[in-house]
Amino acid sequence: MPTWTLHTEFTFDAAHFIEGYDGKCARMHGHTYKVHISAKSHKLNPSKYLETPDMVCDFNELKWSGSDGQKGGLDHTVLNESIPVATTAERIAEYIHKETKSRIPEEIDLTVTVWETPTSWVEYTDKDV
Ligand SMILES: [Zn+2]
Repeated sequence: MPTWTLHTEFTFDAAHFIEGYDGKCARMHGHTYKVHISAKSHKLNPSKYLETPDMVCDFNELKWSGSDGQKGGLDHTVLNESIPVATTAERIAEYIHKETKSRIPEEIDLTVTVWETPTSWVEYTDKDV
């Protein structure tokens, strides 16, 4: 079966705190989060930017969360104001996955990896692996 997998990486800076955490992460602090998104599809699609079916999806639609908070992204925001659950890396990855899914064709399989620090990251997908 033909298969295309897009990969994109970006960073955003954001503040957060983890309510109920027994330690310093309970206090407001910031991270430069790095995000890797892969988008796998067996077919190509049109997009908002290209009418013909020649893309898995547009890279711009995978990168929305890296854009300025005032333009709908997460850069320079307080994550606790956007994400309705505890802002652990696990939940941030799940949130970016869900929000990105809503912007792209349904049959695309997404995997979202979020680095909270250069040495600690989490990978999230809604498929069994
Ligand atoms: Zn933190």
